[in-house]
Amino acid sequence: MLIIGLKYPKQLKRIIKRVIYWEYFTNRDSSCEQCDFLFQDGVSEQEKAFQSEGIKPKNSFAAIHKLIDKHVLREIETCEDYVVEPMDASVPCLLPKGVKFLKRLSQDYRTLCEQEHLEYVPFRITSATRSTESVKTLQQNNGNAIENSAHLRGKTLDISYLSAKNEVEQKKLFIKALAALKQEGLCYVKYEVNMKCLHITCR
Ligand SMILES: [Zn+2]
Repeated sequence: MLIIGLKYPKQLKRIIKRVIYWEYFTNRDSSCEQCDFLFQDGVSEQEKAFQSEGIKPKNSFAAIHKLIDKHVLREIETCEDYVVEPMDASVPCLLPKGVKFLKRLSQDYRTLCEQEHLEYVPFRITSATRSTESVKTLQQNNGNAIENSAHLRGKTLDISYLSAKNEVEQKKLFIKALAALKQEGLCYVKYEVNMKCLHITCR
């Protein structure tokens, strides 16, 4: 490749471009065409949510569990509204505001499903509160340091609804409900194309 690059730099550029475009389009979710521009709250935007509220980053899961024992953080469990996936790099818990937000999100999404006479499909939560230790491990694997650090504060979660290939209509309604909550000022949302998830911080 290097030899081709030295001899034919233009051709190499073209090949690289094609690979990048291919990656981009194969990672896209056709049921969320609007996600790119609907949900682009970056790091500095999401940081604002922690000015008023947020736990101090904890270095271990044990320290996070202590906060659960003290009822500062609340555990989230699979229920009729959502599925909490097994989590290696985080503890399934949030500040009460986060739990309240999940309740509201599922209620609004459920109402939209009912209006359209569609069956409610629970969304999947794949990540919640992380420790500085678990963030370090994640950084070694995916290098997404900044995205991970928001998860240290107890108000950030990842929802991976978009990887499911079916239930396209429900996904659209879910996106609609989430976009309305963002519009209402209840959350910041970043659509992570590569991770195929919605990175959400409650306000
Ligand atoms: Zn995230």
